[in-house]
Amino acid sequence: MRNKPIYIINPNFRLQSNYLSVEWIIIDSLTLQIELPQRDTMSIYNKGGNLVFYQRYGDCLHFIYAEISDWENRLLQKWLRNKLKEYILDRANKVLPQRMHELEIKHCLYARKIIIKQLKKHVLGQCYKDFQTIILSPRIILLPQKNMDSIILHEMAHLKFPHHRKTFWNFLSTLLGEDSILQKERMDTTMSTFYNYSDFLLK
Ligand SMILES: [Zn+2]
Repeated sequence: MRNKPIYIINPNFRLQSNYLSVEWIIIDSLTLQIELPQRDTMSIYNKGGNLVFYQRYGDCLHFIYAEISDWENRLLQKWLRNKLKEYILDRANKVLPQRMHELEIKHCLYARKIIIKQLKKHVLGQCYKDFQTIILSPRIILLPQKNMDSIILHEMAHLKFPHHRKTFWNFLSTLLGEDSILQKERMDTTMSTFYNYSDFLLK
């Protein structure tokens, strides 16, 4: 069996996305203790010598911490991962419909409905032509902008062509402004890392 990569969430951890920003702020533990009673308990992790707050700051997520005795602590990692997941899902629900709408206007191609919903690991989008409805996986917000757009445009192209025949790929090429099959091949080479990484964050 292949080993899955192990990710540790700590101050070296960065989210690579136009729409997500995670900052790590270290402060001394005395200041952090004074802040404690003013915080809502959901935003605090305080166990076994590990003390972290999280707060939303506009579109960013801040983790504020004092000296952490053990980043690899299982409960701490679980807490950090849940906070990241909440943040990513919240941003995806705002950003993806907005971005899709910009692309709809640009290409004069409109869906009736867009739904943001977790799909199976290797499924990033779906289109129901009869209902003119597009479903997007929130995990695509973790992709570079160009790849994220190409997933959205792929589903939008299915509004006209509900199959993967040549007419579909030709139409998608006009939306992308480049050869859609070459674009997909290029993207596929980087996707296995992405699937593992996004699965770790959002499963
Ligand atoms: Zn397709």
